[in-house]
Amino acid sequence: MSEDNSPKTSLSELGEFGLIDHLTRFVELYQPSTLKGIGDDAAIIDHENFATVVTTDMLVEGVHFDLAYMPLKHLGYKAVMVNLSDIYAMNAEATQLTVSIAASNRFPVEALEELYAGITLAAKTYNVDVIGGDTTSSTSGLVISITALGKAEAEKITKRDGAQPNDLLVVTGDIGAAYMGLQVLEREKQVFKVNPNAQPDLEPYSYLVERQLKPEARKDISSLLAALEVQPTSMIDISDGLSSEIIHLCKNSKVGANLFEEKIPLDPAVISVCEEFNIDSTTIALNGGEDYELLFTVDQKDFDKIKGNPNFTIIGHMTEEREGMHLVTRGNQKIPMKAQGWNTFGDTNDE
Ligand code: ADP
Ligand code: MG
Repeated sequence: MSEDNSPKTSLSELGEFGLIDHLTRFVELYQPSTLKGIGDDAAIIDHENFATVVTTDMLVEGVHFDLAYMPLKHLGYKAVMVNLSDIYAMNAEATQLTVSIAASNRFPVEALEELYAGITLAAKTYNVDVIGGDTTSSTSGLVISITALGKAEAEKITKRDGAQPNDLLVVTGDIGAAYMGLQVLEREKQVFKVNPNAQPDLEPYSYLVERQLKPEARKDISSLLAALEVQPTSMIDISDGLSSEIIHLCKNSKVGANLFEEKIPLDPAVISVCEEFNIDSTTIALNGGEDYELLFTVDQKDFDKIKGNPNFTIIGHMTEEREGMHLVTRGNQKIPMKAQGWNTFGDTNDE
């Protein structure tokens, strides 16, 4: 949040083609399936006998991110994670990305370089190829749209519609931390507005802030499930909060669900920051967002393969559709679940 006095090059100095060349000069290719990457009218991909999965996500300044506390390098990294998470949620392997950027001349070349450094770091870490994109100007603000491609054997691909009554409901990792990280950053932003010399001490919140600013997509889960010989019946990634994702699985699969409050995996840092902010941690887990963990269902017969694994927590089970979707509280009360995930259009009822 400090003044940056490093040299600034205006976007117009490089021109569109110069800018594309400049930004993509460190792009490397890792995937044998990329026959042609950047530099022609279109990229060429050969996934041979595998099915191809494709997903796109757009991030808009002021709607999805705030550059007051989001460093551009982290933004680039996160923009890739958001997309890879969707590929992994199909039980597929991510292979390629296209990156489209619209930026106003408020952003110097150096800013877009930072953004691109995050994108290429993510691509390298996750072994995916940046194979193209588009670069254009905008009258205000920054927009990043990424498309990710992946591959999987057709019969392994896991959709939202395969859950059956009595299937176990399983989540990876822990949830709620990214949302609380955002609350901490928002609070520091307000403090900074009042006193620009205040140096925030984010140390006690490092896990939360990291989950918000540098999320990691669950690349490991597909191969882990394959090693355990578990084929999930349905899967989704957690971008909008646990309850809206459970509702998506239920509605698509035409089943109900019971989610047990006491089973929801929370990091101790989430529990303590919720006490500090005087917020109920279950509410955060259900309605927060941006966890980028995976939520899936498995047949009961796979219970032994899942139960002892530290990557997984069994949080409930599916039921007949007519039984509905419920949170079973610690006090054994059944509360109907409602979707309260993020809604870009500002409408709280997003069903
Ligand atoms: P066209 O006029 O055919 O759309 P462009 O001049 O927009 O081509 O892009 C030239 C090449 O650079 C293409 O391969 C395109 O995919 C790639 N490209 C453009 N912008 C980006 C970007 N932001 N990141 C990665 N590749 C890009
Ligand atoms: Mg173009």
